[in-house]
Amino acid sequence: MHDGSFPESAAWQRAPMVTRPAELLAQLGLDAGLEGLDFERLRDFPLRVPQGFVARMRPGDPADPLFLQVWPSARESADAAGFSSDAVGDLASLKAGGLIHKYQGRALVIASGACAVHCRYCFRRHFPYGESLASRGNWRQALAQIAADPSIEEVILSGGDPLSASDDKLSAFVAQLEGIPHVLRLRLHTRTAVVLPERVDPALLDWLSRTRLQKVVVLHVNHANEIDAAAAAAIERLRGAGAALLNQSVLLRRVNDSAQILAALSERLFACGVLPYYLHLLDRVQGAGHFEVSQFEALQIMTELAARLPGYLVPRLARETPGAPAKTLLSW
Ligand code: SF4
Repeated sequence: MHDGSFPESAAWQRAPMVTRPAELLAQLGLDAGLEGLDFERLRDFPLRVPQGFVARMRPGDPADPLFLQVWPSARESADAAGFSSDAVGDLASLKAGGLIHKYQGRALVIASGACAVHCRYCFRRHFPYGESLASRGNWRQALAQIAADPSIEEVILSGGDPLSASDDKLSAFVAQLEGIPHVLRLRLHTRTAVVLPERVDPALLDWLSRTRLQKVVVLHVNHANEIDAAAAAAIERLRGAGAALLNQSVLLRRVNDSAQILAALSERLFACGVLPYYLHLLDRVQGAGHFEVSQFEALQIMTELAARLPGYLVPRLARETPGAPAKTLLSW
């Protein structure tokens, strides 16, 4: 479960957040009676959305694709067969210190349990972050395991969102990674850089541009409307720091389940210097069943998308299977 809090205080951490469903509806001029989760269910994974992200939603439109990603719909309480609290088998791979070592050559560190936005389809929405030392900023054990395994060439900072951690902690961690000769690449998986672009500030850019490690930033954007001018400027700053930029999306019912919407997303990303990388089928996490698009339909969408776009703008359709040695690619 996300702890939803930021332990340190920096300017971006004080950015205004909308956390009450009634407030979100009022700001968007939506029907106050729109059905949402009751308080008890909402407590485990509360509403959280930066004010700046709300500003990218269309007022008066309950079908807005950004609104649907954050609205705690009453549909979340419907039981869906085959949906579980640990949809991708993270818990079986979690090692001491918040390290997840599922794939050859790469290790993932849960760098923070917090996120700037709470996405209702999140596959880690039930993840026990509180039990992960790394999510509380103590990365000593994770570093020791990385140092002891020469096969690890790439370290992925994930979460939650790694950019929820302070720059002091991130830069100290990266400095220690740099001291491990077999680590060549640093990858950041972040949604915050787009939903809260002020997070990409001089302190972040300073340590990111200085590290000897090759840098890859994998953004998480699901719809072209998420990239407003401020988000595009943040992406440009990351590029300026020397990061290769990729994007991964989740295929979500009513949000981006058409070739037309996905083509617009790919084109918007590329205009910002970002290559589409993966389009994930929904991880089957409890509460997210209403977002699911079947594999059959997803493949039809991909065929249409490939007909519309040059190959380098077509993301690869993938599914994560618990226990598998790699993601399962469903399209190339
Ligand atoms: S930002 Fe990522 S980790 Fe956080 S809630 Fe959204 S999908 Fe989940």
